[in-house]
Formats: sequence, structure tokens, C-alpha cells
Amino acid sequence: MEERIVLDEGRFLADLEELGGIGAAPGEGRTRLALSDEDGEARRWLVRRMEELGLEIRVDGIGNLFGILPGEEGTEAPVTAGSHLDTVIRAGALDGAYGVLGALAVLRGVRESGTRLRRALAVAAFTNEEGVRFQPDMMGSLVLSGRLPLEEALAARDREGLRAGEELERLGFRGTDRVTPGAYLELHIEQGPRLEDAGARIGVVEGIQGIAWWGCTYRGQANHAGTTPMDRRRDAFAGVADLSRSLRELAARVPSSVATLGRVEVRPGAINVVPGRVDFTVDVRAEAPESFGRLKEEVPRLLREAAGRHALELEAEALADAPPVRFPREMTDLVDSCARGETDRVLRLASGAGHDAQFLHFLCPTAMIFVPSRGGLSHCPEEHTEAADLLRGVRVLARGLIALAQREA
Ligand SMILES: [Zn+2]
Repeated sequence: MEERIVLDEGRFLADLEELGGIGAAPGEGRTRLALSDEDGEARRWLVRRMEELGLEIRVDGIGNLFGILPGEEGTEAPVTAGSHLDTVIRAGALDGAYGVLGALAVLRGVRESGTRLRRALAVAAFTNEEGVRFQPDMMGSLVLSGRLPLEEALAARDREGLRAGEELERLGFRGTDRVTPGAYLELHIEQGPRLEDAGARIGVVEGIQGIAWWGCTYRGQANHAGTTPMDRRRDAFAGVADLSRSLRELAARVPSSVATLGRVEVRPGAINVVPGRVDFTVDVRAEAPESFGRLKEEVPRLLREAAGRHALELEAEALADAPPVRFPREMTDLVDSCARGETDRVLRLASGAGHDAQFLHFLCPTAMIFVPSRGGLSHCPEEHTEAADLLRGVRVLARGLIALAQREA
């Protein structure tokens, strides 16, 4: 039997606008770095919304915030939906906020419709998903999943030397509760162009790409740009330029992979000096485990080979290594059928960006729902999704949460 609820669409859109105003500056989008004053304000705002609905509020050791609506079987292992409240610098209003407020709208609809569900529902806001101020990113979901020790996360420092644990304490969000979701759905904007290109309205996310990062340095010899013959140079930037081409070839060779050389700092960085040192980063991603394995094997070799061709010394440190995740078939099929209840323009795809769902996956059955991003833009003030698409996504989420909450745990 299918339960029906009424979603207050006007209230959901008003909530998005109100939350989007926290940390906003004219023409600059909004900035709510994790555990900043603005993040604290957004958290307090969400707690008030949860209290209005009579949700049971829980905060865990890393500050993950939960609002639980008990089911007939109590509050254990709630069927959970959410995302994050923190943002990058000059962000749009949707990344993270959409998933949290979509979940809140569903819980409000269930409560106000007087629908009785077997299992508890929860809305969740995970701490520091973006990783701009404190690393690693997805910190809250990493700790919850047991893949990062709490003490290590609390000890993370920002550029000013402030510790995440102290900032949590200052904001009043260092809790002692423990919530273990029984299932997890994350509603998110796509942040890429694939839905728009395919004319699809809903994306069923089958998994999340694996991602590996390296921080590297090439050292050669800084020297006079006029007097040093080309065949006598140890030009560190020439090595990076060479590597850049190899990485593009690698991405072309390995099926559906991407490779990015995103940060390059050339020293001494003068017009008339052969670059003696370059610090740079490498980011590679792939969806299939075989492809991801090949990337991780080949990048170190390409780093060494380009160094060898230009007589450079190489230092390389692995900064991140998150394997590809494939959500359980049962969960993606559920999202697919919920999506098809709202539209027949459904696309199954993998996420190119990391999300909290990547780590919730290790705790409980997990899946994600995407809606289109205009122009594929995100992490910028131009980020936009039409209201009709946002509302459709919330309706798909509602169907999914209710179906899961009616199952036996
Ligand atoms: Zn996000």
C-alpha cells in the first residue's frame, strides 16, 4: 500500500531562500565555511525548524546534526535523508542545502499529513562536507562511518591554527549522541551537465567515482633564461607541461576516467628565469574499479618518467584515495521506480563529485537522487536549478523515504 503525503512546496522554497540568505553577500553568493559563525547560524536555524516539527534532535561527536521523527517501531536505525549546510567560498544556494531541506520538507509532510510509518525518519546535516577550511572533506560522514577516528577529525586545524574540535565546542555543536541510520537517501543537484544534455529531469545515481589525489614537487635548476642553452636546462615547468600531456593521454586511454593538474606553482616565477621548482597537484577519477586501479598504478609511473626526461627530482605524496562506490542494486532500483512515478525522463549515471553518501554507503543501504544543474554549474553563485525540478526531486525523495520506512528493518 502506498502512503500519500502532501508537501508544502511554498514552505520548502521559502526555507531554501531563507537558508540561502545566511552568509550571503550581494553579488558574492554565500559563504558558510565549516564551523564558521555562518555555519553556526545555519545550524541554529535548522534546529529551530526541527523543533517546530517536534523532531527529536541529536548531535554526535563530530557535530553531525539529526532530527528524528519516530515511527511505530521507535527511533532506532532511522531511514535518513540529508546532506550538508557548509559551503565553499562564494557558493550557490543549493549544494548541500537542497538535500537537507528536501528531507525536512518530507518529514514535515509526513508529520502534517498524520501519516504513520513503521520506521523512524531522520533529516541529517553532516559536518564539513566541503573540506575547504578543514581537511579531509566529508569529515562528518567519514567519522560516522568509522573510517576516520573522531580524535583525528577534532584535531584538524585550519590555516589560522584553529582546531575543528574547539570550533565545534565554541558553536555548541559538539554532541555525545550516536545515531546509526538504517538506510540513507541523498537528494542533490547534479553539479554537472549530463542530465541537461540528455534532457533528463531526474538522475538515478548508481555510484560515485573513485578519486585519488597527489601533491607533488619537481625540482630542477633555476638559471638564466638568456644564457642557458636549451639542452643544458633542468626546467621544472617543462617537466610539468610534459606530464600534463601524459595525463591527458592517460585519461583518453582509460575508459571514462578524468585527470586534472589543478594547482601549479612555479618558482621562482620570473620572466627571465628557468623555473627551478614547481609544486603541483594531480587529481584522477574513474567510475569502474579496474579503471581506477589502472589510474593509481600509472600516475606514479608518469610522474617518474616526465621527471626523468627533464632531469628533475620528484617528490610525491598521496593526499586522498577514495575507492569507487557502487550503490546496492536494490536501492538504485527503488530510486528508479520512485523517479518513474514522477517523470519518464530518467537517467542512470555515476556522480563525478564526492558526497556524504559515499561514506554512508559503508554503514547502511544507500542511494542518491540528482536533479539537473543549469549549464552544469556549481560551486559558484551562478548555480541554479528550476523550482519545478527541485520540487520533483523532493517528491521522488518522499516516495523513496516512505517506501523504505514501511519496510521491515
Ligand atoms: Zn554537496
